[in-house]
Amino acid sequence: MSPAGWSGRLVSYPAEAVARYRAAGLWGTATIAGEFRTVADRVPGHLALVTAEGRLTYRELDEQADRLAAGLTELGLAPGDRVILQLSNRLITVVTWYGLLKAGLIPVCTLAAHRGHEIGAISRRTQAVAHIVDTRAGRFDLVAFAREQQQGHPTLRHVLTTGADDRDGGRDGGIRVEDLLDRSDPAEGRKVVDNIQAGIDADDVAVFQLSGGTTGVPKIIPRLHAEYWYNARAFAAVSGFTEETRNGHLIPVIHNAGVVIGMHAPHSAGGAMILTGPDLGQALPLLAAEGVTDILLGHGHYDAVRNPAFPALTATLRRALLSGAKVPPPLFERLEQLGVWAGQTFGMGEGFFAVSQPDSDRAARLTTVGTPMSPLDEFRVLAPGTEDQLPDGETGELATRGPYTLRGYFDAPEQNRSAFTTDGFYRTGDLVRVRVFGAERCISVEGRIKDMINRGGEKISAEEVEGLLMRHPLVRAAAVVAMPDPRLGERTCAYLVTEGTVALGEVQQHLARLGVAKFKWPERIEQIAELPKTSVGKVDKKRLRQDIAAKLRPEQGDHHEPRPVRD
Ligand code: AMP
Repeated sequence: MSPAGWSGRLVSYPAEAVARYRAAGLWGTATIAGEFRTVADRVPGHLALVTAEGRLTYRELDEQADRLAAGLTELGLAPGDRVILQLSNRLITVVTWYGLLKAGLIPVCTLAAHRGHEIGAISRRTQAVAHIVDTRAGRFDLVAFAREQQQGHPTLRHVLTTGADDRDGGRDGGIRVEDLLDRSDPAEGRKVVDNIQAGIDADDVAVFQLSGGTTGVPKIIPRLHAEYWYNARAFAAVSGFTEETRNGHLIPVIHNAGVVIGMHAPHSAGGAMILTGPDLGQALPLLAAEGVTDILLGHGHYDAVRNPAFPALTATLRRALLSGAKVPPPLFERLEQLGVWAGQTFGMGEGFFAVSQPDSDRAARLTTVGTPMSPLDEFRVLAPGTEDQLPDGETGELATRGPYTLRGYFDAPEQNRSAFTTDGFYRTGDLVRVRVFGAERCISVEGRIKDMINRGGEKISAEEVEGLLMRHPLVRAAAVVAMPDPRLGERTCAYLVTEGTVALGEVQQHLARLGVAKFKWPERIEQIAELPKTSVGKVDKKRLRQDIAAKLRPEQGDHHEPRPVRD
């Protein structure tokens, strides 16, 4: 059952595929809340969550989430309602996540860093009724922002907060999630949740993720209960997660990798999640003290391995997965010297994951992102712009179909026509080639054809930023490209054709006025007389990327970094 008015906006998995995924034991028949309850009932006293603020056993997390679900229901939120999230990596965030799912609400995985430009569009497109913000997510006043977003909004009725206490007294603080928790006792909460869950099907939408985005505003990815939980179970299986697992997670949890790898995967196995912020000075001592066994390191955290506090982790750490950019061999060697198994993963909000297998050849783990995670994943390497498959070894666009990869974006029939092949393979926009190691056909990431910048894991659509820059009265033409950055992998550089001089600060202020999230702001501009064109008349971005990389080479050597945006 889907909320009213959704027919035609959702693309279903074909019935034949669903039957196959169920027959193979991949898709279950329970909701995510139901699956979590089964694990919680099996290992109630086990640790489910550790953060700097405290820890929760499965029983505690399950009960708190039940009580929150009852509180959300009492507030008038009904199953199928969409809820915008702007939360950071804290204990209450995980309680909120499961509370929403237990109440049958659909979390929309927006970021704490998003601003009016993004939230305004996404909350309207998803017809969100509530907006939950973390009052401790940074200096920006998200509560005031959420109130502003409500003005004139056709559906947003509630602003809720996490982390607000007396120190925030006097502010128009919205409804505290912590107060909702106190409104019911565990038995009452459980009853409310059981009633709600009885009305939800495993094939209904559970979560809205956002696409890394190559178009104006992020596209919406519907994730269904059965396939999303399977996504996590498959990750747990390939990673060897058990009830003893303590899985460290440093990057934003309300993001696909955070939900799947950080949270659901250890929880599907009865293990614990150790959730930290991105700051290594705080994260590493907590991970060491709590006996971390597994860790995902995004590109922005590759240098963790060289941190003096890292070796303390290795008393318990058995596996490190690296993700986001090519892995430098010395990093791999360092992990091995410390006795930690090292591998890679590659994944996306749309579904598909590749992961290094535990017994993979060392060279395969060092130079590729491994093999598809599920036995029923299908993938092809296509000659860009066609549906022609390339032989192993040749570089082309990765296209994929399978038991946890979307069949269509939500409410986007036009984009869906170009994002999928005629037989339903999702075109990832990533350039890969297959490398064969023994019996394994591993995927090596070679680049991408989608016009996107990957700033430390946050994806920026070039087209979106160019459109926004063009709204500046003095900008005649704009092309944004990635410039290499030692820490974040890539940052945004804007090539501008302007009338007169336009300083970087002015460009950034222009985007601030438009309510654009800071991570999308260009961090360098290059003014040119004309944008270079290819022979077919398109902007020659390859040339621009080469130009900025050449300019930065001496600068980075001299430690003159581009003027970064402070997050
Ligand atoms: P997201 O949906 O935000 O997780 O972004 C997914 C995209 O991130 C993929 O389509 C790739 O472009 C990129 N990505 C994910 N993992 C890797 C990796 N290990 N190496 C290079 N790019 C990656």
